[in-house]
Amino acid sequence: MDSDVIVIGAGLAGLQSARRLEQDGRHVIVLEAADAVGGRIRTDIIDGYRVDRGFQVLNPAYPALYRDVDVPALDLQSFGVGAVVRDGQRSTTLAHPLRHPRYALGTLLSAHTPPSDLVALARWLGPTLLRVRRPVRSATDETLRASLDRAGLTGRLRRDVLDTFLAGVLSDTSGGSSARYVKGLLRYFVLGAPGLPRDGMQALPEQLAAGLRVPVRLDTAARGVHETSGGVEVTTDAGVLTARAVIAAAGPHEAPGLADIPAPVMNGLTTWWFCTPESPLAGRFLMLDASGPGGGPAGPIWNTAVMSEVAPSYAPPGGHLVQATTLLDRPDGLASESEIRRDLERLYRTSTDGWDVIARHVVPHTLPAEPPPLVDRGPVWTGERTLVAGDQLETASIQGALVSGVRAADAIGRLLAG
Ligand SMILES: Cc1cc2nc3c(=O)[nH]c(=O)nc-3n(C[C@H](O)[C@H](O)[C@H](O)COP(=O)(O)OP(=O)(O)OC[C@H]3O[C@@H](n4cnc5c(N)ncnc54)[C@H](O)[C@@H]3O)c2cc1C
Repeated sequence: MDSDVIVIGAGLAGLQSARRLEQDGRHVIVLEAADAVGGRIRTDIIDGYRVDRGFQVLNPAYPALYRDVDVPALDLQSFGVGAVVRDGQRSTTLAHPLRHPRYALGTLLSAHTPPSDLVALARWLGPTLLRVRRPVRSATDETLRASLDRAGLTGRLRRDVLDTFLAGVLSDTSGGSSARYVKGLLRYFVLGAPGLPRDGMQALPEQLAAGLRVPVRLDTAARGVHETSGGVEVTTDAGVLTARAVIAAAGPHEAPGLADIPAPVMNGLTTWWFCTPESPLAGRFLMLDASGPGGGPAGPIWNTAVMSEVAPSYAPPGGHLVQATTLLDRPDGLASESEIRRDLERLYRTSTDGWDVIARHVVPHTLPAEPPPLVDRGPVWTGERTLVAGDQLETASIQGALVSGVRAADAIGRLLAG
């Protein structure tokens, strides 16, 4: 045997499972098809700017980070907990009153936060916020849309802020996600201040990979998995590798090609990255648009941020970096550069003449859809020695991918010990 376990895929789930198995004394080979680790979490340096492959953030409140990730070493640069809401000619900063007391009065008196909505929000989210342990997953789940309606959260806070913010987080504007899943995510947003590692989002998987005894084999795609009596063969372009078991952590749309498991529906987004000599907006907040008829975005952009205001390390001296994200479940998810510029000029109320596009990422496979009910799936055996792991089998998030890696390592550990 070449190793105890072969892990296919060096995204968070694969890396986490490999680390746990190594900690248990197992010999592990990690195969990665791409030229670097990280999977959906990659960062490029372009002309001195750090550009993540699609806008994303790390929430330090994710419990799965506590044991295995050295979060302080990532040197997180945090977003403000709130948002700037553009509404026609006006913009208002709405922020967590305890974390940003200077915006507390303005937030509470804003037309975007009617008292009836605040009460309904507290009723809707309060029990999840007060919970100490993991959510009880049950069949009583419902869609986000139905859950908010039932809670009476139907005013401007919902239309101008919540729906737009959540659509960006979920890459889904339908409101069809599991309400339990969304409440869990919002809990982390309230408990932690999401941020960007100093070296870019890829610093997270890089840190996990650096902790492995056996380096990840990059540019090495698994072409097939075949169980034999007492072991597993994994075919690569360089030959066949053997192990006692395999974890296929190849991502929701790739894993089905290696193991017999259906591919989930995936939600997607497009992120445009612009560099500009001047920051169009001071401050560390995400901007949401509520200028559309009845609230919500009036153009293709669902959220935008001056990344270099949040994370100065994302831009070289004298430069600024702006991200603008559209959603692929909308007809304007693939808007043209001129449409994006027009929308940015409206949102930031400035010309984009001096702005240059440095990257555009179209990411159709951002997150697996999470329709209700949220069920406790866990890693899936597709053979006696082949286990599939990944965020699609836990919750669609960094947290979910890490937890899936741990659960897969535990299950394989039991198999090998048995
Ligand atoms: C644009 C974007 C924004 C996001 N924003 C957030 C956010 O703000 N917060 C959050 O919590 N989550 C966010 N996510 C989701 C988060 O990134 C994922 O949940 C997580 O990274 C999934 O990790 P994974 O290991 O399950 O899968 P993946 O990252 O998909 O890893 C799969 C790996 O397997 C490799 N692979 C595939 N096929 C093979 C093969 N045949 N052989 C070898 N290797 C193979 C792939 O190259 C990849 O490296 C975002 C994702 C994207 C793309």
